[in-house]
Amino acid sequence: MSVTVSQRLIQTNSIIANQAYTSDKTFAVMDPATDKCVANVSSVDTRGIELALESAQLAFEQLKAMNSQARSDLLMRWYQLVIANSEALAELMTLEQGKPLAEAKGEVAYGAEFIRWFAEEAKRSYGQNIPSNNQHQRLSTIKQPIGVVLGITPWNFPIAMVTRKVAPAIAAGCSFILKPSELTPLSALALAHLAIEAGFPSGAFNVVLTQDAPSVVEQLLSDERVKKVTFTGSTQIGKILLAQAAASVKRTSMELGGNAPFIVFESAMLSKAITGLVASKFRNAGQTCVATNRVLVAESIYSTFIAQLLPEVAKLKVGSGFDPMHQVGPLITASAKQRLIESVEQAIIQGGTFLLGQAEFERAKEQTDNFFPVVVLGGITPQMAIYHQELFGPVVLLSTFEDERQALTMANETDYGLAAYFYSENINQIQRVSERLDFGMVGINEGLISNPIAPFGGVKQSGIGREGGQIGLDEYLQVKYLCLNIT
Ligand code: ADP
Repeated sequence: MSVTVSQRLIQTNSIIANQAYTSDKTFAVMDPATDKCVANVSSVDTRGIELALESAQLAFEQLKAMNSQARSDLLMRWYQLVIANSEALAELMTLEQGKPLAEAKGEVAYGAEFIRWFAEEAKRSYGQNIPSNNQHQRLSTIKQPIGVVLGITPWNFPIAMVTRKVAPAIAAGCSFILKPSELTPLSALALAHLAIEAGFPSGAFNVVLTQDAPSVVEQLLSDERVKKVTFTGSTQIGKILLAQAAASVKRTSMELGGNAPFIVFESAMLSKAITGLVASKFRNAGQTCVATNRVLVAESIYSTFIAQLLPEVAKLKVGSGFDPMHQVGPLITASAKQRLIESVEQAIIQGGTFLLGQAEFERAKEQTDNFFPVVVLGGITPQMAIYHQELFGPVVLLSTFEDERQALTMANETDYGLAAYFYSENINQIQRVSERLDFGMVGINEGLISNPIAPFGGVKQSGIGREGGQIGLDEYLQVKYLCLNIT
């Protein structure tokens, strides 16, 4: 790995009003593959937060006054700089997050596409002319930016989760204060650094670093200047933020947890289903909110399915993301590993069985690193705790069903409603099942569905709002109705 390239983009201070904001208090960013410190970054203090708010408010006035072509050009320059630095950004991401370098490169490209898409959409925030229902009035709407936006992002996609919030905000004319995950702040800082290089006005994109998210976020959220909070993370934290946002009736977008079912119907093309499953389950070591969590297989094809699945899963190699031999990197922290170990052990106690990975699992339990082996468990039922947990790891859970009705009941038996997948070659079944799955996104004969040009988001306790696509811009706009008396 060419560390020299990554070093150029390693920033270690909060970025406030386009300047590095230093403080004495620091925290370490760790490489999850080696447990070594990658960098020490400074924690923002109360004064820094106030400066971030002030500069974001000033930048909002400036961005709002800018014409949409100018905002579009700004974003396009940012996009070009992200692309020009994609190798270095990918290396930095693998260093602090652990995912295989090939995946990190994929994420940089994916993340950059959000910037390009919203650079284009910046010019299309159309209002409406409403045909009047009377002689004396003319009715219309315009869309205007909401104001200062607070974004809180997780560690699993350190670049894409940032660009898919910041790019539409800037496109709409909002300024942004980002509180990235304390586990992966370096990618966010590198992005902000490139945004400044692209010519972002001072305060348009601030990044505040902290290990104490609750108090920093509370200070930001209780401030009247912040008009919106956009969050990607767990449902548990999302509920806290919704309650805090309620105090001053702020707009909210919430991308929360998932518990994706992956249904394999009798007519499915098994090779295609297995390719889709492996992609959906093991990307980012299973640490994605749209990762397959529960595999539901028609009883009639269960044994054939297992016979074809296990050799494919067994091919996956776990290890450092910098070694191209490895398809599965480490889990993010030791506590994430411990949580998953406990979930698997409990599943076995409750009647689940190892179909793959038992010896490796036993070994991994003894080791102090963050690597978790690929594991396949059979005999999983909705009565088991694991069926309802968001695993966030490389563990496949297999259950069976008798008919379509049971498959749908089992799939929908969750508080979450983010992504669902199913495989079927029966056209009528495809239509029926698509309509009856209580999820915001459905992959039909497809395991990888995320796309910057399509709306991403959930129903039920998986969230509020959509990111990406045409609708993604509306999250940062408010509609104003104009009524003109022409007499
Ligand atoms: P995950 O389980 O994916 O780590 P979390 O919901 O814990 O997701 O964290 C996502 C983001 O929310 C991170 O940036 C984290 O620092 C932040 N966060 C965690 N707890 C709080 C809190 N009480 N208030 C505000 N932000 C928080």
